[in-house]
Amino acid sequence: MVLRLILLGSPGSGKGTQARMLQEGYQIVHVSTGDILRRAIQAQTELGRLAQSYMDDGNLVPDDVMLRLVKETLDAPRYEAGYVLDGFPRTVPQSTAFESMLLQWGAALTAVISLEVNREVLIHRLSGRRVCPECATTYHIDQLDPSGELRCTRDGALLVQRKDDDAQAVAIRFDAFERETLPLKQFYRDRGLLREIDGSRATGEVFKDIQRILA
Ligand code: AMP
Repeated sequence: MVLRLILLGSPGSGKGTQARMLQEGYQIVHVSTGDILRRAIQAQTELGRLAQSYMDDGNLVPDDVMLRLVKETLDAPRYEAGYVLDGFPRTVPQSTAFESMLLQWGAALTAVISLEVNREVLIHRLSGRRVCPECATTYHIDQLDPSGELRCTRDGALLVQRKDDDAQAVAIRFDAFERETLPLKQFYRDRGLLREIDGSRATGEVFKDIQRILA
């Protein structure tokens, strides 16, 4: 069966980490719209220029931009074997439009997995998050040796803090999540696709729950 998954959850809920584990464990493609946009900003493409001010402030990029991006991305042969979406859809109009896209492609979603994490844990995770600018792997400062330079264990690049992980942008992102993205839970519950799991536990424990859902 081809797996087509959506990971739903607040900023800092662990979507990226679980999506990377799913990519490795199930040979499906990890599609992070946030990573695609950050690469576009780095490469100074038209998409990057469009998205940058929204992202830096912690706001959502407009739906029409995101829908065009996802349509162009997923309409390629490498996604026929399945994918896990991390960060899309994020609004009800995105979900509705994505439903029509899937219908056109004759493809169905397998499940929408919602990672439930309380605010205190989210703030701890986001404030200590560091990312590799080369491969997008994320770390937490608690895992790193504070005496030396903070470098990616995969490619040695110097880790950075995302601009939108500062306290002000985080508050705006939480707000956008509650207002725009939380209603998606009901959208997918109505379609019998929603699965909620406790995302506040260790990475491996959360992944085991996802494996059980997919078994
Ligand atoms: P993420 O890496 O998923 O936390 O996304 C970082 C930022 O990219 C978000 O705060 C938004 O500004 C933008 N973004 C990513 N995905 C979407 C989406 N589906 N809709 C709107 N904005 C998005």
